[in-house]
Amino acid sequence: MSKQTFQIAVLSGDGIGPEVTQQAVRLMSAACEPFEDIDLSLQEVSVGAQEYLKNGDPLPDSAFDVCRESDAVLLGAMGMPSVRWPDGREMTPQIDLRERLDLYNGLRPIYLYAAEDSPLKKYQAGEIDFVIVRENTEGLFAARTDPQDQTREEARDIMLITRKGSLRIFRAAFDQAMQRRKKVTLVDKANVLPSMVLFREVFEEIAAEYPEVETEVVYVDAAALFLVQRPQSFDVIVTENMFGDILSDLAAGLVGGMGMAPSGDIGEDCAVFQPSHGTAPDIAGQNKANPVATILSAAMLLQWLDHPSAKEAGVKLDSAVKKALADPAVRTGDVGGSLSTTEMGDAILKCL
Ligand code: ATP
Ligand code: MG
Repeated sequence: MSKQTFQIAVLSGDGIGPEVTQQAVRLMSAACEPFEDIDLSLQEVSVGAQEYLKNGDPLPDSAFDVCRESDAVLLGAMGMPSVRWPDGREMTPQIDLRERLDLYNGLRPIYLYAAEDSPLKKYQAGEIDFVIVRENTEGLFAARTDPQDQTREEARDIMLITRKGSLRIFRAAFDQAMQRRKKVTLVDKANVLPSMVLFREVFEEIAAEYPEVETEVVYVDAAALFLVQRPQSFDVIVTENMFGDILSDLAAGLVGGMGMAPSGDIGEDCAVFQPSHGTAPDIAGQNKANPVATILSAAMLLQWLDHPSAKEAGVKLDSAVKKALADPAVRTGDVGGSLSTTEMGDAILKCL
């Protein structure tokens, strides 16, 4: 039988990045182990604040090239509070990577593993289950690379919406919905922002191509309310960059916080998978961090690879997490438990 080898770039990064990534790599490898027709070739690449301190660049070209040429990237977290560019700006190599690889589709799955994890006390495991599809390359974040006239008296940020960018993100959202419960909610602010009128217009064009999919349109302020009042009603939520950024954190809060929320940033032929949280410098190096978000991101990575065995390994890893988390005692400190990072990894490995 011929074996297919997948090149995976592993960017552990800073803070708790290396601790959570270590568990994810271990579980990802274990999930693939029984499959004789696939093999993972893992390449560790140094990026982030520690790399900047060594070489003056948090995302060197050599590291970027490895990412671009790999089949997929697994990323921990990057940055250190004390390490900034000489002009004082914060470093955001993870956003640079997303933009340079044109990873337009920001997938943020939200799933409730146990009733105890949610601050909303009325939901059982599996009753909160939706995915946010965040447009990753334009929207209000376009202001980052296209600063307008800034004076000491006035500064503006541009909300950029293009037909091309909107078409591709809406297609991605409807394709997701076709594999799920066939409902898409557009979150916009078309009552106030003219850019959002175009966004909604393109949404309606794409919706017409998917007659089986139910659609709903919600203003972003109402979306924040409905996420708390009726999270079970959402299947796929699609929105622009900044709204997606904010609502993803709110949504993660519904199911236990940042330590439980994975993500994938997906482009035409490259993808980066990483936890939604940052480097958590306050608990770095203490074997306390919750590795679940990174392990779930690794499961997404496997399911994204173009091979039935890799997909099956990803589904198995996802099920192992579900099984492990069904026991409310199997939790790290951030979700009310007492397990260490490595013990959490052990518990999931046992279920695999
Ligand atoms: P960044 O700027 O890198 O996004 P941040 O300041 O927004 O970082 P996080 O690093 O996400 O924040 O951390 C916010 C809080 O959540 C911290 O108190 C941190 O300890 C906690 N936290 C984040 N991720 C985890 C995790 N995986 N396990 C446990 N606690 C976490
Ligand atoms: Mg943050």
